[in-house]
Amino acid sequence: MSLISYKKPQEGQSVSCYLRTLATSNGFSSVDLMLAPILRRTGVTHLDVTPSDIGKLTGHNVEENGLLQLLRAEKDDHEGYWYHNLKIPRHHLRREEHYCPECFKKNPVTLAKWQIAWMPVCLEHGVYLKKLSGVDESELLVGVMPFDLSAKKVETGGLQLDIGIQAQFELETLLDEESMMKHPPAYSVIDIIDESLKRCLDTSSMKKGPRSARYFPLNYEDTIKMLETVFLQRMAA
Ligand SMILES: [Zn+2]
Repeated sequence: MSLISYKKPQEGQSVSCYLRTLATSNGFSSVDLMLAPILRRTGVTHLDVTPSDIGKLTGHNVEENGLLQLLRAEKDDHEGYWYHNLKIPRHHLRREEHYCPECFKKNPVTLAKWQIAWMPVCLEHGVYLKKLSGVDESELLVGVMPFDLSAKKVETGGLQLDIGIQAQFELETLLDEESMMKHPPAYSVIDIIDESLKRCLDTSSMKKGPRSARYFPLNYEDTIKMLETVFLQRMAA
């Protein structure tokens, strides 16, 4: 049994946002209430949802249209999250859903790519993405904006941050290109990031290595620093 009302995902829409859309249009007061009877699992978060789960829910194969990204790879398919043709490890993702308050003013939809933690800035608006946490899910049903729309503007002008943003731009472009390739390169942007993340953690005081981290272990400032390192290395190469 799948849901009665089917909505096609918006292009690039995050899984959690899509689940809220489905819950709203099917009259459920929460995503949890919608998921449990159909998936026969409780406590399912957006990071647990696989393509076959979406198939069960909607009766549609969402992989075909490629609109929904960062669905969890199926169990027999090793750990990771599909971003088009690239598989992204969990420790590259944020634990909490993020959004760009400026983008939200036009379209209150969260995007899958905002879940990838090494892209901390909305390049279109030059602001750091913001956490959605603390806002009750029911206030976030599609079409309803969260209360706090203030964004922390990125202080540009500092050479370091400019390099960080430039680096994110470069890496985001690479991610877009590589994830759309029929055969992604053997050494992809994900590997570049993973290596510098590892180096970054080795040289910092953090005890946990990236492999043991369940979610992305760096804050905004350290992420920007890591991106700068990647950028400068690539410039020098
Ligand atoms: Zn934006």
